[in-house]
Order: sequence, then C-alpha cells, then structure tokens
Amino acid sequence: MGVAQPLQSLRDRLTASDRMPVVFLGHGNPMNALEDTVYSRSWSDLGQTLPRPQAILVVSAHWMTRGTTLVDVSALPRIIHDFRGFPQELFDQQYPAQGSPKLARDVVALLSSHHAEEDETWGLDHGAWTVLKFLYPEADVPAFQLSIDMSQDFDWHLEVGRTLSDLRDRGVLILGSGNIVHNLGALSRSNTPPDFALEFDTRFAERLTERDFAALADRKGMGSLLHKAHPSFDHYLPALTIAGSSDDRDALTFMTDSFDLGSISMRSFVFHA
Ligand code: ZN
Repeated sequence: MGVAQPLQSLRDRLTASDRMPVVFLGHGNPMNALEDTVYSRSWSDLGQTLPRPQAILVVSAHWMTRGTTLVDVSALPRIIHDFRGFPQELFDQQYPAQGSPKLARDVVALLSSHHAEEDETWGLDHGAWTVLKFLYPEADVPAFQLSIDMSQDFDWHLEVGRTLSDLRDRGVLILGSGNIVHNLGALSRSNTPPDFALEFDTRFAERLTERDFAALADRKGMGSLLHKAHPSFDHYLPALTIAGSSDDRDALTFMTDSFDLGSISMRSFVFHA
C-alpha cells in the first residue's frame, strides 16, 4: 500500500463538481472595498454569475515569498489591512470567512515540487478580501491564500496554475488578484493611460486570447515594456497562475478592461467551460 496521493484525498474530501471557472481580477485601489465603483459592481455581478464553490483558493499579489510557496492552513484566516493612509472605515473592514485547513494541506502536497509549505500566519490580505467582499458578501465560502514565490521565473507561475487546475473539478474556485499593468510611479489624476500601459495591456489581452502563454512568460521578449508596466512583478504573477490553470476547453471572457489612475490596468478575465 502506498501513501495516499494528494489528489485521491481531495477526491474523497470534496464532491466532484462541474469544472469551475478560474478568475483573474484587477484589484487596484483598496478604496474599491468601500465605494460603489464600476469595479466593485463588476465583482458583485460576477459573484452572482459564478457557480457556488466549495472553497476559494486566492493567489494575491500581496503575499510575496522567496524560495517557498506558502499555503495558509489556518482555520480562521485573519484580515490583513496591508495599506497606509486610508480612512479608518477601511481599517475597520472585516471578512469573517473560514479557512479550509484540510484542503490547504492537500494543496501543499499537490505543490510539493514547488517548494510548498504550510503557513498559519498570513490570512487574507487586501488583494483577497477587498474583492471577496463583493463576490461572496456573506463570507460563507471558505477561502485561503497561496503565496507567490518571487525568486522563480515566470514559467514557474504558469506551472503552479497547471498543477492546481485539477482542483477545478472539485468545486474549488481559483482566484488570482493583481493588475495587468501596475506602475505606481506613473499614476496620474487625469486617468489617461500612458502609451506603455495601453501597449502592455493590449498585448497581454491579445496573447491571452491566442492562448500564447509562453509569450506572456517571455521576460526577454517583452523587454523594457515589461519593466515599465511592472517595476516589480508581484501584480503580474497571479495572472500567469490563472492562465496556467486554464485549458483548451475553456472560453475566455474579459470583464473590466479600463485603467484606474492612468497606470493601473483593471483588466479582469474569466476562463470558463
Ligand atoms: Zn495590489
């Protein structure tokens, strides 16, 4: 008798489901959590449209690790108000979703080749809870996070998505939260996107539509445009993981495709059966 395979134990634990969609949301400004914006409304609408998941695995731009992929196995993930200079009302926000410790431990096993380890300290950062609050306002679906290993190349993050994709048949919603363009040094009140932002965002959408994920992971090929769009890559990597968890059977639907403060692309998309 061998040791139970992670996937086998998932099958025992979770009911088989129709294949769940995978979702990438541009989260942008944390104030979306308080305000009625075109973005927060689109998240509410999406929540009404999605099949109800048994759990949500969130890959947020704001949980960065180096050398490991951490998975939060806590039973009650704390809410992290990881920002400064915002109104008290934003710091008062809570999102009392439960975690999913057993499933999270299975994800650690599933990602053993990606240096996955258990973590009980993180919780839900604002990349997660500011959008979950609209997707599932009752906080009645268990949610837990997976970190992004900043020491790895882009292919790694596509591969993490491929490895996670089996969870889609077990009622798990894989949700990426970042931004397709994220340059805080080029913000503008005029809200007019600079050329580099438009160009990167458009190219991303074209390559994603063509399912040319290798191009999306080709740092060299993207050249200086990549660095203008992403002075650091944290907000880009979750989009790669979501692309990696899609497959040929999926249709691709873009949701929001506008810019906030010029240099933050709010482009969001869903791969679905
Ligand atoms: Zn962010």
